[in-house]
Amino acid sequence: MNKKNGTQLENAYVAAHQIKSPVASLHTILQTMLGGFAGELSQQQKHLLQGADKKCYEALDTIQGLLSLKRVQEQSTTGEEITDLAAVLHSLHSKFADSAAEKGIEFRFEQKAEHAYTALEENLLREAFSALLHNAIKYTPESGRIALHLWVSEQKDEVLVKIADSGIGVPPEEHQKLFTPFFRASNAKKQEPEGTGLGLAFVKAVIEGGGGSISAGESELGGTEFSLSLPKKAAPEKTEKDDTQEPSMRVVVIGGVAAGPKIAAKIKRLDPNADVTIVEKGRILSYAGCGLPFYISGVVDDQKELISTPEGVLKGLDYFQRVKNVNVLNQTEAVEIDRANKKVRVKKLISGEEQWLPYDKLALATGAIPKMLDVPGATLQNIFTLHGFEHAEGLKEHMAEKRAKDVVIVGGGLIGVEMTESLVSAGARVTLIEMESHILPNLLDPDMSNLVQRHFETQGVRVLTGTRVTGFTGNGKVETVKTGGRELPADMVIIGTGVRANTGLAKAAGLEIGASGGLKTDSHMCTSDPDIYAAGDCVETRFLITDKPTYLPLGSTANKQGRIAAENICGGQSHFPGIVRTSICKVFDYTVANAGLTEQRASEEGYETIFSITPGLDRSHFMPGANMLIIKLLAEAKTGRILGIQAVGPGEIAKRVDVAVVALTAKMSADQVSSLDLCYAPSYSEALDNLHVAANVLKNKIDGYMEGIHPVEVRKKLDEGKDILLLDVRTYSEFNEARIEESLHIPINALRGRISELPAGKEIIVLSRVSLSAYEASIILKANGFKDVKVMDGGITMWPTSRISK
Ligand code: FAD
Repeated sequence: MNKKNGTQLENAYVAAHQIKSPVASLHTILQTMLGGFAGELSQQQKHLLQGADKKCYEALDTIQGLLSLKRVQEQSTTGEEITDLAAVLHSLHSKFADSAAEKGIEFRFEQKAEHAYTALEENLLREAFSALLHNAIKYTPESGRIALHLWVSEQKDEVLVKIADSGIGVPPEEHQKLFTPFFRASNAKKQEPEGTGLGLAFVKAVIEGGGGSISAGESELGGTEFSLSLPKKAAPEKTEKDDTQEPSMRVVVIGGVAAGPKIAAKIKRLDPNADVTIVEKGRILSYAGCGLPFYISGVVDDQKELISTPEGVLKGLDYFQRVKNVNVLNQTEAVEIDRANKKVRVKKLISGEEQWLPYDKLALATGAIPKMLDVPGATLQNIFTLHGFEHAEGLKEHMAEKRAKDVVIVGGGLIGVEMTESLVSAGARVTLIEMESHILPNLLDPDMSNLVQRHFETQGVRVLTGTRVTGFTGNGKVETVKTGGRELPADMVIIGTGVRANTGLAKAAGLEIGASGGLKTDSHMCTSDPDIYAAGDCVETRFLITDKPTYLPLGSTANKQGRIAAENICGGQSHFPGIVRTSICKVFDYTVANAGLTEQRASEEGYETIFSITPGLDRSHFMPGANMLIIKLLAEAKTGRILGIQAVGPGEIAKRVDVAVVALTAKMSADQVSSLDLCYAPSYSEALDNLHVAANVLKNKIDGYMEGIHPVEVRKKLDEGKDILLLDVRTYSEFNEARIEESLHIPINALRGRISELPAGKEIIVLSRVSLSAYEASIILKANGFKDVKVMDGGITMWPTSRISK
């Protein structure tokens, strides 16, 4: 590339980086408007906005292409990792077989070498060869032919690949230019006017980065032929094993994402002579499953980040072998456990080859399986679940290639909610459907959930609660989602209706299954067979609040349980006591978290409860960046024992909920929480932290100093025409910003002087922005002889139609 072109490209990279976010936001806004979420549009307005949105898409494609190109140009593409290109092409051949078949294209893979090791990272090889195969299918007409050849030249130490098609070809004079950024062959432009011209530049950068070369020419099949060569590498070294020393024990671990690798790594730390083998069905191991929504939204733009250690070391297959000295069988399924003879039958998914692995101890970390909907049309294309790396890759590819605009997410639980944010950020127009009366039904009570729903709505998300999906329709691919009363257009559907423990293998082996459907273990993570341990999403655990079995599949729990299982496999006596059902998720700029029981669940469990709802700033009001959060704290009325916490808002929530988790685990009372010695400086909290305030309000209620009333009840009283006085004691500016029509406004600092304006003998309900002023006002009123005075829980923020504002 000459110097001038190089500088131009450099400038383009800088520009791409800077405009990525604004263009993505613009696209989301246009999508929201086009979806009618911001009001009805005339035909002409719609047409104009559609044109603008198409341009946005094109710009985003170019930006993404440029950033990918920069990524491979900047980083060294060769590294420690040795990848078998034969395995990569094998799996790409299966992956693209369907789209080729859809066009009636014959797609052959001629593999003349069983293995073809190269020094390029697997992900890059997959991206580069996917781009070439994608083009081959796109530019080959129906009933055409594509041939993929792989062989190894032993003389030259080269891995060679040819991709030939019978497609439209490239004019010979343009063959060389094909790899120049932004160049597109003249006939390709005619067939497909849109395109960035960056795909082949990316492929060239990857291959050359790996010390190889690529060229284009005419194919014998009549279209284009790409010839690639890469330096051949030796097969990755197997970790040197000291064959003279017998292993101390043989451990087979089934499942290789969170709990499995944790078990394997910890065992090797405790007992380096143990022979540990992980068996994993998938291609990739030990990835951050919890990061998948961020990979889909683009916050994490390189999947490698989800498979790396915090120090940036890629956890490829040889990482486990070389660094951890753990054997790994990936793309291999454990199909049978023979408990009597202590061995596991495994099957290689690519070759179908089977073998028995003997064990002294077996660890099950088989995770969970997404629940599918049993309704008509559920098997149509473009209906996805999100569980695992392969699902995320499929979904991301679909978003990029098919440009799904209308996405329907079924299920308003944690995954549904996280995916809603992720897909809105990726540019989709999202409808979230929840069967229960409110979203996040297992985490939040309706009042707290309402705050989250309203926040979604301000971001253009349509939320349909109390709505059951009855089916999907479409011609091969999903086009509409049917609910009882209506049909919603959908280019793509994500099912987030929960997961169930993956216990098939364990059940077939006769292991005991618990009441919640998860595998039953004792607190040592040992199953009903003393030589078989289990951890993670496949097991049930104990709910420390009710002391009953519970199932909550989370990565945090999987890692802790994995560690305990490993310690005990190595002869330890460690216990995993259980969980308080803590969860947290991000909803745009809000955090939503909970632990323990909700008010609804507590009542189902037979507890008589009392709660406080306290909005407040997360640090001193005079500090920059102070933000609001709302805490709902629940306690047992009789004893004051804390039973649960829910928190929503843009403020710092995690630390408050984490402290409450300690209180829940230690079975502390509101009284004890209110005097905890939490850290304080204005940058981090008020002198009394939000959790102290929440506990104090609870105490005030328990001790009879304050009587609360829920805003929903107040609304009901007003609607029923009850003779009450709603007294708003906020400042003038707060009152002018948002008010409840039926309220009487007397700011707290004027209350003593205007007390005579208040009618005697009426029920008075005081409201403020944060509970403290309303509580103070109620004390003033009581001191002046008013008997029936209540404080509206949560103040104006919890009013059924308000939003959280600073
Ligand atoms: P899994 O991760 O499910 O891994 C089990 C593995 O076992 C699978 O790869 C499977 O292929 C393999 N396997 C199963 N059967 C066999 C067999 N017979 N042979 C070979 N292999 C087999 N948790 C949090 O705590 N916080 C979060 O923010 C969070 N976000 C999430 C977001 C998303 C989108 C998803 C899907 C999950 C999220 N989770 C989160 C949950 C978390 O990812 C899981 O709890 C965690 O991955 C469980 O780990 P595991 O090892 O038990 O099971």
